[in-house]
Amino acid sequence: MELYPVNRPFPTSAPLADLPAEALRDDILRHLIYTLGKDVPHATRYDWRMALSYAVRDRIVGPWFRSTRRTWAEGRKRVHYLSMEFLIGRILEDAVVNIGLDETVRGVMADLGQDYRALVEDEPDAALGNGGLGRLAACFMESMATLGCPAYGYGIRYEHGLFRQRFEAGFQVETPEDWLSQAHPWEFARPEAAYVIPFKGEVETRDGRDHWVPGETVIASAFDTPVVGWQGKWANTLRLWGAKPTTQFDLDRFNRGDYAAAAEPEALARTLSRVLYPDDTTYQGKELRLKQEFFLTSAALQDILRRHLSAGHSLASLPAHVAIQMNDTHPAIAGPELIRLLMDDHGMVFAEALEITRACLGYTNHTLLPEALERWATFTFGNVLPRHMQIVERIDDWHRRTWPSRPHYVGIVKHHEVRMGELAFIMAHKVNGVSALHSDLVKANLFPELNRLHPGRIVNQTNGVTPRRWLRMCNRPLAGLITETVGAGWEDHLDRLRGLEDHVGDAGFRAAFDAAKRQNKVALAEWLSSECEVKADPDAIFDVQVKRIHEYKRQLLNILQAVAHWKSIHDNPNAAWVPRLRIFGGKAAPGYAVAKEIIHLINDVGSVINADPATRDLLQIAYPANYNVSMAERLIPAADLSEQISTAGKEASGTGNMKFMMNGAPTIGTLDGANVEILQEVGADNFFLFGLTAGEVVKRREDPDHARKAIEASQPLQDVLQMIAEGRFSPDQPDRYHGLVHRIWHHDYFLVAADFDAYHAAQGQVDHAYADRDRWLKMAALNTARSGLFSSDRTIRGYMDEIWSVEPAI
Ligand SMILES: *Cc1c(COP(=O)(O)O)cnc(C)c1O
Repeated sequence: MELYPVNRPFPTSAPLADLPAEALRDDILRHLIYTLGKDVPHATRYDWRMALSYAVRDRIVGPWFRSTRRTWAEGRKRVHYLSMEFLIGRILEDAVVNIGLDETVRGVMADLGQDYRALVEDEPDAALGNGGLGRLAACFMESMATLGCPAYGYGIRYEHGLFRQRFEAGFQVETPEDWLSQAHPWEFARPEAAYVIPFKGEVETRDGRDHWVPGETVIASAFDTPVVGWQGKWANTLRLWGAKPTTQFDLDRFNRGDYAAAAEPEALARTLSRVLYPDDTTYQGKELRLKQEFFLTSAALQDILRRHLSAGHSLASLPAHVAIQMNDTHPAIAGPELIRLLMDDHGMVFAEALEITRACLGYTNHTLLPEALERWATFTFGNVLPRHMQIVERIDDWHRRTWPSRPHYVGIVKHHEVRMGELAFIMAHKVNGVSALHSDLVKANLFPELNRLHPGRIVNQTNGVTPRRWLRMCNRPLAGLITETVGAGWEDHLDRLRGLEDHVGDAGFRAAFDAAKRQNKVALAEWLSSECEVKADPDAIFDVQVKRIHEYKRQLLNILQAVAHWKSIHDNPNAAWVPRLRIFGGKAAPGYAVAKEIIHLINDVGSVINADPATRDLLQIAYPANYNVSMAERLIPAADLSEQISTAGKEASGTGNMKFMMNGAPTIGTLDGANVEILQEVGADNFFLFGLTAGEVVKRREDPDHARKAIEASQPLQDVLQMIAEGRFSPDQPDRYHGLVHRIWHHDYFLVAADFDAYHAAQGQVDHAYADRDRWLKMAALNTARSGLFSSDRTIRGYMDEIWSVEPAI
């Protein structure tokens, strides 16, 4: 029986929002009973969530099939976004909002006696990423679906996503994350989409050609998650690979009683998709990581070639149908791997394979930090990927001959290392940075010689975030006010937020804006009191710094200034202080000792300050553990102030900064990353700018005494460092922070001391501005009104036009 012949339109073509509630209710009950095998009286919250998820998923399949059929039928070019990380978060509510079933689902669940909010919060976060880079990939998937850009996301289906964070006596403790311990209702296993991934072994030359005889193989097996765009007009596929053994379970060994050995090949293969590396912006040069990168990349490329050939296209036409984007250097092995597949499996000559590969590939650079630029020892690289070592050398050789003016120190293989940044650059037809400032620095500092040899290859695509998740879904009160004020349809035309500007002068609008923010603050205060025993006053300034803990992001600057703030209140108890709640959130990489020490300090300072009866009503510090996407969705709508205080020149773009801006939180920040563009959009009156510029940072470091001089010039900073060094915040171990204080005095690479006074003063301006309610509300509303540029829809349009040459299907 052929249910839905391909030449007939897919049945559910009615606008999704018009689907009757009874149909949804019936589907939920049907899934509860027949998919989950649960009788209604015994159904748990988990069962209801699963049943609802399946019923919602059913409604995504229609748009998904329609999109896939159209892409095939119209022979459309597709984007393939290769990323080692997709920091997705929860899926249910996002899907419900995007297909317009929000009201219906609420009503139906209430009818069924279920608390929809509780079901939504029962879903574990899909935390297949560390931070900004992985979250960007997730926003891009959603925007590509919204714009009707035919696309596949390719990643790894990690069994354990980013670790869970707890605090024990203020210190970070990591525990494994296990999102897949429950059924994952959003994915479809595709055991038929499986590829052999080779590793190690030898390269043999026979009949004048090279043949890789691998020493190990594993199987990459696909799991597909549909990603639906706004209003369900289009849906793409996120295809994640799980690793399986090629060799079957050894029944002989098992029967002989050798149980562990019988299961060994399986265990070994599965390690490839077992865990996400928890390092953000650093790499460790571990063999397993290189294998993971190759596993993802080879599986994706084999899949792309299979799809291309099955459509009857020639390999020469690959660039007309296929764009491949490398999210950072992690999938940079794509260059040599595509050349290998074209040469070794399809008999193409090197020159042609190289040209086709380069026409398909784009590379996004995400960081200037030297410790983040992947480099593999040629020994490791050649051992794991012997055939690719040959191809990389051939690429390097071709590049050197073709551009004879290339300086001797430039190249892919240097000092017994394979440099993945140079490899990605040379193999890509376009290289992009992620903010205007960052792209300029990529040209000037990171790849100056390659930029000279290949002018025009480096372009800029400033990051963005999806306003569906980061405004419409996570901030209902504000989203409702926006729709009331500028009308429906701003979610996929974010420039329309500009329409709010006409209303900021209207006291009624400001009061409504204030009420929306206050509603979010009250909800957050309640959550914080149960989560980390902080009693938050909704009238206080909610001052938020949430992001990975990193020296360059300078959570240290924030907590030092918090100490200065505390001392100022003690020194002037009768001044007109504005109450403030300083909220921190973020994880440190498990091996990053300095970052963990900063976490410890924040918690220690918080314990002392929060317990001080003299300041308790004016200053509180909250650090809820385990920052993730769901926590961001709670914190950001309730924020009054966005802390974006990185050392200038170090934050490539930031995307947290954009989420805060959309949600009406002015920034206190440096001229770094996309802060530069945020400032430009919102205007200097609505942004608390401080600190050295990227150029001044470089100059300042030339003075080896910069930190000591800055400290000696600042009484407040001296006092703060003195208090910490004396053990005021670590009475159980007074010398706990001697090392930290010593490093600020004598090293301070990230210029915490040099920027301290300017930051301290800017925080004073925040207090002053907040006390003037009308002024503050105007600032806050203008931040939302002028945030349209930072929709990831704008970013994706830029990639489609400038890098991928892909036309939208809607
Ligand atoms: C947006 C986001 C980030 C990135 O934040 P930055 O401030 O740009 O570093 C990291 N983690 C989570 C959970 C996010 O939602």
